[in-house]
Amino acid sequence: MTMTTMMMRMAASSSSSSSLTFARRRLLHCSVQNPLTTSASSLQRRSFSQNKKDNPHNGGFRNGTNNFKGLAYSSAAAAITATGVLLTQASQEHTVDAEIAKLQQSNGGGIELKKIPSRSEQIQSLISTSEFDVLVIGGGATGAGAALDAASRGLSTALIERGDFGNETSSRSTKLIWAGIRYIATAVSSLLRFKNLTRPFDAMKDFKSEFEMVLGAHKERRILLENNPHLTNWVPIAVPVAEWISWPPPFGHPIFATAPLLLPAVFKFYDGMGGFTCPPSHIMGKQRAERKFPQLASEDAHYYSCFYEGQHNDARTATYIALTAAEEGASVANYVEMIDVIKDEKTGKAVGVQAEDKLSGNKFEIRAKAIVFAGGPFTDGLRKIEDPSCKPAVAAAAGTHIVLPGYYCPRGLGMLDINTSDGRFLFFLPWQGKTIVGTTDRKGPAVSTPGPPEEEISWLLKECQKYLGDDLPVRRSDVLSAWQGFRPLASDPHAPPGAPVSRNHIISVNPDTGITFITGGKWTTYREMAEDVIDRVIEANGFEDKAGDCVTDKLRLRGGVGYDRNVPIKLVQLFGCSEDTAEHLARTYGVHAFEVCKMAKATTKTWPRYGNLLIEGYPYLESEIEYACKNEMALTLTDMLTTRTRLAFLDSTAARAAAPKIADLMAASLGWSGSEKKNQLNQALELISEFGGPIPQEQLRSVTNIESLFKAFDLDGSGYIEYDELKQCVDYWGCPFRSEEEARAAFNEMDIFKDNRISLLEFKKWWDSPKNKSRLKLDLSEKYKLSPDKIGKGQGAAFG
Ligand SMILES: Cc1cc2nc3c(=O)[nH]c(=O)nc-3n(C[C@H](O)[C@H](O)[C@H](O)COP(=O)(O)OP(=O)(O)OC[C@H]3O[C@@H](n4cnc5c(N)ncnc54)[C@H](O)[C@@H]3O)c2cc1C
Repeated sequence: MTMTTMMMRMAASSSSSSSLTFARRRLLHCSVQNPLTTSASSLQRRSFSQNKKDNPHNGGFRNGTNNFKGLAYSSAAAAITATGVLLTQASQEHTVDAEIAKLQQSNGGGIELKKIPSRSEQIQSLISTSEFDVLVIGGGATGAGAALDAASRGLSTALIERGDFGNETSSRSTKLIWAGIRYIATAVSSLLRFKNLTRPFDAMKDFKSEFEMVLGAHKERRILLENNPHLTNWVPIAVPVAEWISWPPPFGHPIFATAPLLLPAVFKFYDGMGGFTCPPSHIMGKQRAERKFPQLASEDAHYYSCFYEGQHNDARTATYIALTAAEEGASVANYVEMIDVIKDEKTGKAVGVQAEDKLSGNKFEIRAKAIVFAGGPFTDGLRKIEDPSCKPAVAAAAGTHIVLPGYYCPRGLGMLDINTSDGRFLFFLPWQGKTIVGTTDRKGPAVSTPGPPEEEISWLLKECQKYLGDDLPVRRSDVLSAWQGFRPLASDPHAPPGAPVSRNHIISVNPDTGITFITGGKWTTYREMAEDVIDRVIEANGFEDKAGDCVTDKLRLRGGVGYDRNVPIKLVQLFGCSEDTAEHLARTYGVHAFEVCKMAKATTKTWPRYGNLLIEGYPYLESEIEYACKNEMALTLTDMLTTRTRLAFLDSTAARAAAPKIADLMAASLGWSGSEKKNQLNQALELISEFGGPIPQEQLRSVTNIESLFKAFDLDGSGYIEYDELKQCVDYWGCPFRSEEEARAAFNEMDIFKDNRISLLEFKKWWDSPKNKSRLKLDLSEKYKLSPDKIGKGQGAAFG
């Protein structure tokens, strides 16, 4: 029997086998019979004990050939490995299908893996539907929520978004699902203002409305967390108390000077407002805080008062709200922009919109009885299309976040400064393995670009330093990414004079066109906002007969039906993926994580056995790209790097490094041509360059000579370029090394004194050397329009 026939037979038999183990047993059995494979078998036996040590989840078998030294057997081992991969993949699918079927039948309905029509089917539906009941413009949290609310009540619904779902404000929040402890404090502070003594009833009314808003936020926080354990989690947040009397007082009122003493009681009251549905607030002593967060400058703190808020991956939640609307029957499309409003010539009422498919350039009409604008901070832009003379309704305010390495926020504990140098709240939160710090507050018109001003990054770094010991400086080079978003602060332009200004969201109808807009509010309250706006639409359009009651308070978002906390463990057991990856997949796709894993390829490693990473250090899998393109309307490389994975938000250097690989995978899934792929790559790299990173934009622009280039590479200002700095800078400057070997060779070439670091003298010598025709020098010169010939001989002469 030839080896090939044997392999084919094995493949045939494995398709009928019901378990992964069975396929492996066959593989081993076969290898013992063939002299060529005896070594492969002994290789596997040899590595068995080693693997058992490496990997507690693994029975000890391996697909890889890592330890295989003998040249004579290498081809046989490779063949075995390849066959093993095929077999385990085939058997894997079988096992997984059986497992998924079992889960689907279990506990009252089991898991639901609903398919969504493709984007082209969605566009076709937008074009061919003669008239929708409701058309929503804007696919952030608010618009996607409105579409979901309308569709789940049985109204025929359409949703269009000009970019990817949630790509604007809804992906740039602090990621908290928070009930608004600050609003309570602000409300108390304004109630107790001296001037309110003359208007006690109005003051009480304002306080009541603020209090009700916070109660509403508590309710929404509970609903979002209870219904969607796959997308949300609780995060503990500690407030350090360093002085018993705080002066100047937080929230600008003397009563809050005693806040340090009152915090534990305030947090208990806050827990109570949420019906004690969150983990209980508590006090943490200095020693415990030091154990949990050793980096803290804790010698000054008397104690820490801890409370809990919800947390999520905001862009992901927005995408899943939009896709859940599609599951409920709405026609939903990203990259479709509203470019005009169609009005009835006689009545002037809006009857639809002119839309443009931003990918194909096709223009088409979408007709609807009711139109809702949900453009967040861009709502006035939409309203101006409808009525160029409209009064503004949104006053946007920018907020910046920086992202630092995870070790600044260890063991899942966040921190909150309730009294920063400018009197704001500043969060220090663990998120996706990193630390988010934010935010600032600066009034100004909303723009789409994510890049924040350098002075805001510096301010945030300065505020962080207060909490860390002097021996742990937070450096500019620690900033992995930085981005800004615009809060949609709203006022109602159609309100009668003297009407109270809402501090929450506003819903307003243009009496001339009948178009409703909704803006303001918070991420946390998106569902309540959606319910309110659709209630209003139903009432205004007489949809009462066809629309049912709102059901979104009971609805689980996509991937949530059948999800339980053991999904990550089941993923590890079934697929042999790493725990980090399993956790990430479960918390991103819910029960659809099984489908993502099913697409994952074998790694040929001991562990993890399945799931090749997009980039080292992050749990994202290659198979997620194919899954998102085929099942979740992912269309551009920029989306994949920003909203689908969060790489650009977490680490702009890593995003840049992963971009070419993701472009290849997307090209394969979406059938991009070579020029399309190049185009996508250029666009994505341009957007990523707007995110902040370890090197300030100013510094990049200020490189004019060899000294300033050296300084830009010397991230920690030590006077030397270390290996990691060289790699990080070269990535960041857009000329990444193609391999570890290339990076090492370049470093060794520069490290003339062989002391594992590069001084300015060595750097100059390397650059000036006539023999130096390296790709790095040429790339840097070309990218920054620097002429290598004009580098003076050790003179630090100007580039280009
Ligand atoms: C710095 C910052 C931190 C925040 N932190 C929190 C927090 O921790 N917790 C919390 O609850 N809230 C937070 N918020 C508030 C929250 O992020 C916003 O309230 C929420 O994301 C607004 O969602 P939205 O859908 O109204 O707006 P957006 O997300 O901006 O959505 C509007 C959408 O309309 C689309 N659009 C515009 N014009 C058109 C057109 N012509 N055609 C089609 N589509 C169009 C845009 O592309 C955009 O995607 C924060 C906000 C900021 C700025």
